[in-house]
Amino acid sequence: MEMTHDLIVIGGGSGGVAGSRRAAALGAKVAIVEADRFGGTCVIRGCVPKKLMMYAASFAHQFKDAAGFGWTDLQARFEMPRWADAKKREIDRLEKIYDEMLGNAGVETVRGRGRFTSACEVDVGGRRLAAPRILVATGGAPAADALPGLAAAMTSNEVLDLRELPESLLVIGGGYIAVEFASILSALGSRVTLAYRDRYPLRGFDDELRGRLALALGERGITLACGVALQQLERDAQGFVLTRADGSVLRAAAALNATGRKPSTAGLGLAEAGVPLNARGAIIVDNESRTAVPSIWAVGDVTDRVNLTPVAIAEARAFADTEFARTPTRVDHRIVASAVFTDPPVGSVGLTEQQAALRGPVDIYAADFRPMKEAFVGGSQRTFMKLVVDGLDQRVLGAHMIGPEAPEIIQSLAVAVTGGARKHDFDQTIAVHPTLSEEFMLMRTPVRRLAQAVQPPAAPVAS
Ligand SMILES: Cc1cc2nc3c(=O)[nH]c(=O)nc-3n(C[C@H](O)[C@H](O)[C@H](O)COP(=O)(O)OP(=O)(O)OC[C@H]3O[C@@H](n4cnc5c(N)ncnc54)[C@H](O)[C@@H]3O)c2cc1C
Repeated sequence: MEMTHDLIVIGGGSGGVAGSRRAAALGAKVAIVEADRFGGTCVIRGCVPKKLMMYAASFAHQFKDAAGFGWTDLQARFEMPRWADAKKREIDRLEKIYDEMLGNAGVETVRGRGRFTSACEVDVGGRRLAAPRILVATGGAPAADALPGLAAAMTSNEVLDLRELPESLLVIGGGYIAVEFASILSALGSRVTLAYRDRYPLRGFDDELRGRLALALGERGITLACGVALQQLERDAQGFVLTRADGSVLRAAAALNATGRKPSTAGLGLAEAGVPLNARGAIIVDNESRTAVPSIWAVGDVTDRVNLTPVAIAEARAFADTEFARTPTRVDHRIVASAVFTDPPVGSVGLTEQQAALRGPVDIYAADFRPMKEAFVGGSQRTFMKLVVDGLDQRVLGAHMIGPEAPEIIQSLAVAVTGGARKHDFDQTIAVHPTLSEEFMLMRTPVRRLAQAVQPPAAPVAS
């Protein structure tokens, strides 16, 4: 078979762009196929526009706080079309940069939808591309099958393109995308109801953070409709009606489906190429991102491992290093820091108290306080930090925080946790004062010790 390239990448998002640039830098002749816009979910309709919307929302509280610091005559009003226009310009600019970066790296960009015609061939709108290695990085998309009627609701894609703020909004789901948009749109001025089945949002995060986030969102004016299964979503003349299993109904002018995402594998021709999928429709890969077909690899959300941009990038670069630099490289998915951009934000790395307690003896250190800035303006928001420490060798297994700058603080602590730091290293570190993060260095006595393999206490919502 005549090969046109050394590598074909399907999908020009975080993983695809990173993998194709790295492979090209290592001397490979690469083509990258993108059906929509280069940059993918993160740049076009995910992390980046979401954070730009979060920045817009953050001014609401800054204006309030400013009055407590002596500022007067602050008469501000949010005009969504101005934000939407500025956001569009910024995303267009970033998309262009992605396109240029690929060109500068010598990667051929091919616009269109890629589809396997054999294990080494891809069809893009009638053009045949062939290579001994093909990397699938097609990402994921919002799923609408959690309950009947969800397809009528907006998804994160549409919310980020809103030009008018809904007067009231039902956010359906309890994951990070649900709580982030609930928090953002509430701060911008919508009346938000957050509906999910569990007792607390953010399943998988430390229970104490989950409880505290629920409390904080409630204090910020969001109605939490939790702990009851959701049955169906319907439209009527006023907007949306969500029926719950206990017969109660929730109403709002607009609805956001944030119940989860599914891997984008439909129409790719994977079955024809012989690539098996798991029950959730994700491509099954080994720890070097190989599929069952020797010429095909997959990275990022389409493999449904840890669905975050830096993970997709790391997996793609590891693939390129392994295949084109002959340097076998694997991504360690066990310690991945993550953040939730709510108000207050959440940052987390390593094991939760619940996970650690199931493994062995654990010491829990915590700090719970009203930060200086909050106390000065008479606010009630508390900041909470927690270290999960191995009770035997004192290794810090996890660090968790809810409070201002938590994502930035946890990013730095992730170095220590990944590097295997012990509690002693935190104690020895001289703090930067006055900061919030210094509290992580000043926790001297455990708030509790958990013996081998115990269930930790249920999440205390607040002390
Ligand atoms: C609202 C939202 C907020 C998020 N916030 C964060 C965050 O704060 N931090 C974080 O780390 N992650 C965040 N994420 C997750 C992050 O965006 C994804 O983990 C990341 O984009 C995955 O990268 P990827 O390369 O796997 O796929 P994607 O970035 O989704 O890229 C896949 C690309 O493949 C293209 N494609 C699909 N099928 C084909 C085909 N057949 N042919 C050609 N092209 C195709 C798509 O058009 C797309 O451009 C967020 C996601 C969402 C939805």
